[in-house]
Amino acid sequence: MEQQTAAGRELPPPMQMLQIISGFWVARCVYVMAKLGIADLINDGPKTTEELATATETHAPSLFRVLRALVPFGVVTQGEDNRFGTTPLLETLRSGPGSLRAFAMTELGEEHYPAWGELLYSVRTGGIAFDHAFGEPCWEFFAKHPDNAQIFNDAMSGMTAQATEALHAAYQFRDIKVLMDVGGGHGGLITSILTRNPNLRGILFDSPQVIEGAKSHLGESGVGDRCELISGDFFKSVPQGADAIVLKWIIHDWNDQQSVAILKNCHRALPENGKLILVDAVVPATNEPHFSKFIDLNMLVMTGGRERTETEFRKLYEDSGFHFTRIVPTESPFSVIEGVRV
Ligand code: SAH
Repeated sequence: MEQQTAAGRELPPPMQMLQIISGFWVARCVYVMAKLGIADLINDGPKTTEELATATETHAPSLFRVLRALVPFGVVTQGEDNRFGTTPLLETLRSGPGSLRAFAMTELGEEHYPAWGELLYSVRTGGIAFDHAFGEPCWEFFAKHPDNAQIFNDAMSGMTAQATEALHAAYQFRDIKVLMDVGGGHGGLITSILTRNPNLRGILFDSPQVIEGAKSHLGESGVGDRCELISGDFFKSVPQGADAIVLKWIIHDWNDQQSVAILKNCHRALPENGKLILVDAVVPATNEPHFSKFIDLNMLVMTGGRERTETEFRKLYEDSGFHFTRIVPTESPFSVIEGVRV
């Protein structure tokens, strides 16, 4: 919905506020699209609600109401014959590399969404809303719920694929012999880097159950023979053997004390002058709208982590023995925050 009327005038404040309040209705409808795989089903041509309901084992009249509501948002088209067709927006939810389907499912489904329901708990107490809602930290929850973990890991891979082009356009992983991706998930980032740098060797490090899941992805990547898989706990130690470490969307999961503990373990693992490469959003010092300000809240409710300003990153580097060298922005909401081990 738009902030302006057709005549170009700004909507009155109550209307604007209503749009903000009802934003979650739209998002939850998108969740239903993602979960039911509607984008895949109508990819080869428009379908009636009955056809879609049969394919997804759902209630046709209710599904119709969800689809109808999404038409003005450009998520689907509705023909005269009541067939619903795909749009560029819906195509972002089609399964496959770079898809946002798993991200919509994990954010709007069974873990992030209930945690956001407890945002007020975090605001009142500073505590982690997820832990309050589920009685355990999210990483423990994922370890016990492989189906949810699979969707979460696919979501990370999908988002990584989205950001990868922008990252490689802005930053070259040159002058590195062995690069270790700490908390690298299923290996989307490290395989994209190895593919572009044929002389580079890689190490993918993550929790045991995630490394188990990464094996098939690495096997399919074509660069598996140049990438070693190691599992462990980055709070206990980070393996040696790399002259540069990349951490993408890791430090934002943790508070300052935990982040310094991880970075100190990276410091121990790296040789002198080894490179530290963080990929995270940097919160701008100005008031401009920026994705980082909402990922920041996602971290507040899910893990107790945060997004950081340049000053806050510099402090983390100082406290863990790294010399801050530079921030390289990319054409995505994420930047490269680079440092050197001293
Ligand atoms: N870097 C990946 C994944 C980010 S999600 C990407 O950008 O796509 C955070 C990752 O940290 C998950 O893969 C999770 O399994 C891993 N992780 C969380 N706690 C960990 C720990 N104690 N030791 C090692 N990895 C951990």
